[in-house]
Amino acid sequence: MSVFSRKDFDDHEQVVFCSDEASGLRAIIAIHNTSRGPALGGCRMWPYESDDAALTDALRLSRGMTYKSALADLPYGGGKAVIIGDPARDKTQALWRAFGRFVDSLGGRYVTAEDVGTRPDDLEVVRQTTRHVAGIAEGGAGDPSPATAYGVFVGIRAAMRERLEGTDMAGLRVAIQGLGNVGYGLARRLHEAGAELFVTDIDDLAVGRAVRELGATAVVPDQIYDQAVDVFSPCALGAIVNDETLPRLRASVVAGSANNQLAEERHGAALQQRKILYAPDYVINAGGVIWVSHESRNFDGKAASAHVGRIEKTLGEIFACARKEGVTPAEAADRIAESRFRHRAEAA
Ligand code: NAD
Repeated sequence: MSVFSRKDFDDHEQVVFCSDEASGLRAIIAIHNTSRGPALGGCRMWPYESDDAALTDALRLSRGMTYKSALADLPYGGGKAVIIGDPARDKTQALWRAFGRFVDSLGGRYVTAEDVGTRPDDLEVVRQTTRHVAGIAEGGAGDPSPATAYGVFVGIRAAMRERLEGTDMAGLRVAIQGLGNVGYGLARRLHEAGAELFVTDIDDLAVGRAVRELGATAVVPDQIYDQAVDVFSPCALGAIVNDETLPRLRASVVAGSANNQLAEERHGAALQQRKILYAPDYVINAGGVIWVSHESRNFDGKAASAHVGRIEKTLGEIFACARKEGVTPAEAADRIAESRFRHRAEAA
């Protein structure tokens, strides 16, 4: 299995292959960049088809974390751990303790956290063998979803400033896909600001609640793309901007919390061609990670919230840079992020 010559290798500082025979642990920890601070990134547990697929995921996700942390102005770099295993079957205390020992052996260069397949109680066990764990209840920051929803709300404001006339949300038409932890919180904020909501979810109860409490119009899941709205806000699934949905979108702005909204990179350019402004997902959905990064014994909710609010300014800078340089917002975001972590590295 090649590492340095593979497509997803992007000058990662360190890639650690972890094997513990006694517990059966097989994991990969990828540290992409630490120029802003320790590499922060969750630990994903997944029954990967091959070691190769696990390595690809670790390389890609850790790189993504560097960009996300840089644009969120966090004192962290990017890293990620993947454990090869089935979270429903293979979790044992011995496995988590062994994983923690590997994290600990990196001396704080990598800080682990929750991700797909891992839960707070797993991290509590990891904590028995390392202190380099973030996002455990003890700090008092709690559920990050309301912060994510707030970040998307201010991000929509930045997009309105760029593309629509002003930032007054009264009468703004927004289609929301997914009314879960983030989507519902966002819907509530938008409703309070006077927006008109068109909502969908595969869970009818969530839709019914939004209709009742927020006066939203219910839309069947597949028709959410066709709504004549100002903003389309994906808050459920990834890859929802694709060849099938793109021609159907009638919104001027795509701005939501879902991860990996563009099925492929080229869909960013395709949105631009259709004059639809895209708020890069990893920028607008950073509220949760910002919130968690403030976690400490003296958690200061006001400071954390103000930090999340800065997503509005960052997105404004990204849109301005995209306009000036004739690139897509996704490309502009990458450039700004790179300037933030590469300059640090050069200054060091
Ligand atoms: P969630 O599971 O609470 O909510 C997702 C909602 O989407 C659920 O109500 C689900 O029924 C609905 N859904 C699933 N498939 C759907 C479909 N085909 N059509 C319509 N609705 C559908 O998740 P969440 O925490 O609200 O996160 C939403 C998205 O934002 C996810 O993509 C997540 O990765 C991303 N995100 C969340 C956070 C956070 O702080 N929670 C942070 C960053 C990114």
